[in-house]
Amino acid sequence: MDIILFGPPGAGKGTQAKAICDKAGIPHISTGDIFRKNLKEGTALGKLAQSYMSKGELVPDEVVCDLVTDRLAQPDAAGGALLDGFPRTEVQAKLLRDWLREHGRDIDLVISLEVPDDVLVRRLSGRRTCLACGATYHVDYNPPAVEGVCDVCGGQVVQRDDDREETVRARLATYHRDTAAVLPWLSEHVRVVAVDGTRSIDEVRRAVLAALEPA
Ligand code: ADP
Ligand code: ADP
Ligand code: ZN
Repeated sequence: MDIILFGPPGAGKGTQAKAICDKAGIPHISTGDIFRKNLKEGTALGKLAQSYMSKGELVPDEVVCDLVTDRLAQPDAAGGALLDGFPRTEVQAKLLRDWLREHGRDIDLVISLEVPDDVLVRRLSGRRTCLACGATYHVDYNPPAVEGVCDVCGGQVVQRDDDREETVRARLATYHRDTAAVLPWLSEHVRVVAVDGTRSIDEVRRAVLAALEPA
């Protein structure tokens, strides 16, 4: 099953991804995580991506699309994948659908997390991320057991540069300008299940997992 987990920055995609992947038996593909891993390793892709990420802008479509199709072609994704943070433009959405169809697959489901901007700003400015494994926390809503230490791997938990308030505003503007319009396009072609993402993490998880049941 190929599933898109859609929603604005801070909607809870990363938080919900593991439960979906475990239930559906598919790998998690987060374009943001791939860029951050490349940045940490100092690759050319990481440096290129950083020049856009630090301004809250989108990395160019050609770069992202090549990255995602390479990843989707790997053996562990042969039975499908969960895409988190992709597609973010209509070009990306169309390319994804074409690529999947050429490979005997399709976009099977879109889970769309709906959260208003004021809540997103609070979530993103309080978000903390593990430098080692990428696990995310929130200073108020979901803190690690020991401040600054990852529950999962013991790594250091810090604020992402692009989660500072100025960049958060720019990312939300980018979302409304370039990404929000992808949802109506997807709705014309694929089953979209909208989930109220403002409820508690557990309630959202239940709703998201229910979306995996056949319609
Ligand atoms: P969030 O989880 O807060 O929505 P991501 O980790 O998905 O943020 O993305 C971080 C940044 O990486 C984005 O602001 C953007 O610069 C870049 N990025 C990630 N995915 C894409 C994509 N599909 N297209 C273009 N840029 C992307
Ligand atoms: P995304 O991947 O969509 O950008 P995240 O999953 O990283 O979003 O969540 C953004 C922030 O909001 C994190 O700090 C996370 O702990 C917190 N968060 C996620 N879901 C909820 C929720 N349902 N209620 C409160 N806080 C949440
Ligand atoms: Zn960790």
